[in-house]
Amino acid sequence: MIETENIGYVKSSFSEKADPFIMRAEESKIIIDKKYSQALYDIESNEHLEVIFYFHKNSQNSDELQLKVTNYFGEEKGIFACRTPFRPSRLGLATVKLIKREENILTVTGLDAIDGTPVLDIKPYMSDLFEKEYSPVELNPRKRFIPLIKNNDLEKLLIESAALHGHYCPGLSMGVIGSAYALRQLNVYSDGLEDLLAIAEINNCMVDGIQMVTGCSIANNSLIYRDLGKSSFSLVTREGKGLRLTVRADFREKFGKEFPLFQKYFQKVVKEKSRDKEDLLIFKTESKKASFELLKWDTDSIFTKKEVEHSIPEYAKIKESVTCAQCGEQIMAGKEIEKESSSFCRECAKEELHQLDGSGISTFCY
Ligand SMILES: [Zn+2]
Ligand SMILES: [Zn+2]
Repeated sequence: MIETENIGYVKSSFSEKADPFIMRAEESKIIIDKKYSQALYDIESNEHLEVIFYFHKNSQNSDELQLKVTNYFGEEKGIFACRTPFRPSRLGLATVKLIKREENILTVTGLDAIDGTPVLDIKPYMSDLFEKEYSPVELNPRKRFIPLIKNNDLEKLLIESAALHGHYCPGLSMGVIGSAYALRQLNVYSDGLEDLLAIAEINNCMVDGIQMVTGCSIANNSLIYRDLGKSSFSLVTREGKGLRLTVRADFREKFGKEFPLFQKYFQKVVKEKSRDKEDLLIFKTESKKASFELLKWDTDSIFTKKEVEHSIPEYAKIKESVTCAQCGEQIMAGKEIEKESSSFCRECAKEELHQLDGSGISTFCY
């Protein structure tokens, strides 16, 4: 025998088993034992949970169990091939939507358990881990972005971009909104071969939205970084023609008024570098909320737009490598330093170099 413990129980308006679809549509509550309150920390960051519960009203012994039953849809199924409550373990499993948490009480939909059902465990539902198919059948790995851009499906583009960026934030949303708009205007899509170029004039969150949505990245030489510190970017074709979008001067103030709680925690976490867990959680929650809300704004209320022509560098040259006479590592030709008829890397030669970091392009010395 295995022993287990209840962690809480279900509070539902159904005291008897009813149609599971009707039960799932209703909100129910899961009351977690107060001694496990801390175990619920950050559970709100999950949209869906898996709840394991116990069919306490079923009294049959396992030798009385029917192993084949007729299911809800009238089909004959083995009990392990359907969700009948009459099973040897008496365990029920439901994927529920978490509506809210108030201290030790979770409000959910999707739970088809009657009032008083003991709950044994709760886990986050991880659809991404199991449902995404990773099969490189397409020659264009960015194919899935095209309908999203054409249909202005900004939510999905933001979710994709956040995977690169690490968090949801309004800056990221702005990169997503502006890039999707500019791509639709130009009607060109990047295959990472430098025929579409993005020119970013600032190094902030917006640029990750630009990189993900346009496919122009630092590494495929399609993202040009101009160290201007302006909240602007251009999207141009190889001919240098395209669009430049600039965040409106009055945007920040309008945004701050619309999302005061985000503003407050931005100050605490980003400006004052608070790493208090509660602060971080509120900041991330508010930031995510504001990021998705921002997607509904009219692009004209965020950006000014104008047609531009930029002079564009040649396609990136593929260069031979040179070996550093001191460390023996390979250096892209043209980046070496010649000293006493030998080639050295800048590190060994103790020469200063350019570095792109959080403060833009700066001079770096070893
Ligand atoms: Zn960000
Ligand atoms: Zn070296």
